[in-house]
Amino acid sequence: MEVQKKKISGGVHPKDDGKSLSSGVAIKPAPLLEKYQVILCQHIGAPPKLIVNPGDVVKKGQMIAEPGGFVSAPVHAPTSGTVGKVIDVPGPMGVNQQAVEILADGKDEFDSGLEPIADWRQAAPEVLKERIGKAGIVGMGGAAFPTLVKLSPPPAKKIDTLILNGAECEPYLTADHRLMLERADAVLTGAAIMARVLGITRIYIGIEANKPNAIAELQTKAPNYNAKVVVLKVRYPQGGEKQLIYAVTGRKVPEGMLPMDAGCVVQNVGTAAAVAEAVLEGKPLFERVTTVTGLPVVNPGNWLVRIGTPIAEVLRLAGGVKSTPGKVILGGPMMGFAQKSIEVPVMKNTSGILLLDQSEVVQFTSQPCIRCGKCIDNCPMNLLCGTISCFIENEKFDKAEELHVMDCLECGACAYACPAHRPLVQHVRRAKAEIRARKAKENKK
Ligand code: SF4
Ligand code: SF4
Repeated sequence: MEVQKKKISGGVHPKDDGKSLSSGVAIKPAPLLEKYQVILCQHIGAPPKLIVNPGDVVKKGQMIAEPGGFVSAPVHAPTSGTVGKVIDVPGPMGVNQQAVEILADGKDEFDSGLEPIADWRQAAPEVLKERIGKAGIVGMGGAAFPTLVKLSPPPAKKIDTLILNGAECEPYLTADHRLMLERADAVLTGAAIMARVLGITRIYIGIEANKPNAIAELQTKAPNYNAKVVVLKVRYPQGGEKQLIYAVTGRKVPEGMLPMDAGCVVQNVGTAAAVAEAVLEGKPLFERVTTVTGLPVVNPGNWLVRIGTPIAEVLRLAGGVKSTPGKVILGGPMMGFAQKSIEVPVMKNTSGILLLDQSEVVQFTSQPCIRCGKCIDNCPMNLLCGTISCFIENEKFDKAEELHVMDCLECGACAYACPAHRPLVQHVRRAKAEIRARKAKENKK
């Protein structure tokens, strides 16, 4: 076992992180539904192009949309059946998104057209990389960045370290915890495959100390894959890429730069397991483990759900609710997004479905900044959060940019501490959108 090299700046640790609601519940596969609504654009980058038509017969794992560019990813059928209508469904960001219906035939026949690569240790890195791309794998920790792109750093960037992100520092979420505990070999195999693609041998798995059973499991098996487990002190947002690199290796990613500029590639543990399935079984990414939790949920737990399953169906699997939820969030309470519809389908990056009780949802009134500095103490990026927020409130986006607002992780650690209940993250998101729009306009001139 390796020890944490550095302690991250700032951050928070909520007293009750809510993980005990579901951390002891084993992953259960969700039963087959009659219909799935698969959102077409599930990743950062170019939207994929639909390659099937209503009425076409498809098999489970068959590609139904192909990548729309290099930074893009294909989408696959979650079961066998018939392609239904192309419709608009509520998306996780509050706007409708285009989705395609897959009407199940009940046979659940698998045929992805991708042959298993059993001898992956002998396979050429390009072959493995191509497989990861064809399987539609994206970052499953939340970012949904195409994994193929992350594994294709420019030749000038010298990568020597792969870090698997098993921190799962968001309160309430336990999907990665259960995956590491129950499918350690898949996680480690995926890591070894990605290391082969990158041409490196140094693999670390960063995992927070609040998952002792998963740590023990990984520590037992990691030597078989030439990987090392690094146990991290519990601290949110340690799962941020830059924070994890610092905690695990002691390296700092230079300001405005990427993990590859510190010689590192970071991948989520769920992504690693998906890579292993894609290579060893020819299985594309059409299902994932997601946590369904919160006080109103009758049976909180972790489910293996297919992409395109409406949240409402997942909640039914968890026994429904015992009280009226005050909020439904996709992801965790810190970085997740509140939903106005439970018809939003599960996507490749749906790490959790969290219901907060009405008693937990407190409406605060934002007050003027009292310059207490608590936000700055908590900021893992060492930003002047309060000052940035005041500039944004006064529409001084240039000033906010000068204070590095674009480096903000939107982790919410500042807002968590703010006694004036200022909407610090919302301010940052607004500023980022304004700055990006302004730059896009300038580039068009
Ligand atoms: S300013 Fe950004 S990075 Fe810093 S604590 Fe707030 S949300 Fe997190
Ligand atoms: S924590 Fe809130 S009140 Fe205190 S300095 Fe930051 S923004 Fe201002």
